[in-house]
Amino acid sequence: MYQPDEHRYDRMKFNRCGRSGIQLPAISLGLWHNFGGVDTIENGRIMLRRAFDLGITHFDLANNYGPPYGSAEQTMGYAMQHDLFPYRDELIISSKAGYDMWPGPYGNWGSRKYLVASLDQSLKRMGIDYVDIFYHHRPDPDTPLEETMGALRDILRSGKALYVGISNYPPDLTAQAEQILNSMGTHCLIHQPKYSMFERWVEDGLLDVLRDKGIGCIVFSPLAQGLLTDKYLEGIPEGSRAAKPTGFLKRDQVTKEKVTKVRRLNEMAMARGESLAQMALAWVLRHKEVTSALIGASRVEQIDDAVKATKSAAFSSEELKKIDDILA
Ligand code: NDP
Repeated sequence: MYQPDEHRYDRMKFNRCGRSGIQLPAISLGLWHNFGGVDTIENGRIMLRRAFDLGITHFDLANNYGPPYGSAEQTMGYAMQHDLFPYRDELIISSKAGYDMWPGPYGNWGSRKYLVASLDQSLKRMGIDYVDIFYHHRPDPDTPLEETMGALRDILRSGKALYVGISNYPPDLTAQAEQILNSMGTHCLIHQPKYSMFERWVEDGLLDVLRDKGIGCIVFSPLAQGLLTDKYLEGIPEGSRAAKPTGFLKRDQVTKEKVTKVRRLNEMAMARGESLAQMALAWVLRHKEVTSALIGASRVEQIDDAVKATKSAAFSSEELKKIDDILA
């Protein structure tokens, strides 16, 4: 029987999620890749256990993570059933709806019909009664924002989610969504945007909105899907995300230009006495608005590596400038 490490909470740093009662671990684990039906379920289970042993209390899912769609939530259900269920109250489990999930007009985007049905399906797959956070996964240009936010509010009231959030919303729409939720007496707990050294759009206004509105921020793909590690320095290794047919990182995204920058960043990380992955995570976490860095992993060693980023030294202004110069 699984017994979690009794020192797990000594190992993790927790940050408050905006103006709320929730604290999230500085490093959270997402199940987008490597936890699907095409992957080895026992590897997923081992990674979830290791993460929890290291104080990672937050696991992030979405209805369509796999492949096939839904299978990452089934893996989460398997891990709950075998290992984690006794610790349900120590966990923050999130799911989302907003991208393609089932055929027809009710299995995508942002209608009340889709969000409510999708969450019911997610709960069944994971074998749990509620998620801690339910997100609208991306803005829907055609559904009134009032309908989507109204669905989130009603989901909260139904008790099937304890908090709600939004993902991939630009700054102006984030402010509008927050206002609508607020007018219905609901707080937007958290925003989930993409942010890494290679993808810096959140710096142009989103973090300001989040700070002003007291919304937390969990940033996804902080390692640029593995590019911001030493993995691709000598080509594309077998078994890596860029080499897999099911991976969202494509071979042609591992460009010479990027690898040249990564090489220089890697030298800088070594001079700081850490891995590039650790430096890249410490870099996104340098903003006080960023509550958590949401990583992916294919092996337990990657989780071990990531968690050490919570002990990284703060960046000097010279170091930050050097990183900007390398990325320019
Ligand atoms: P990362 O940028 O952290 O990439 C993770 C990948 O990087 C791993 O699978 C692994 O790839 C590689 N890696 C990680 N650590 C190391 C290391 N120490 N050394 C070498 N390689 C390493 O995040 P993801 O892109 O996986 O996204 C994380 C989570 O964010 C998702 O699981 C999901 O929960 C969420 N997400 C949300 C989205 C949204 O729209 N809201 C969209 C996308 C993601 P490899 O397999 O090659 O070993």
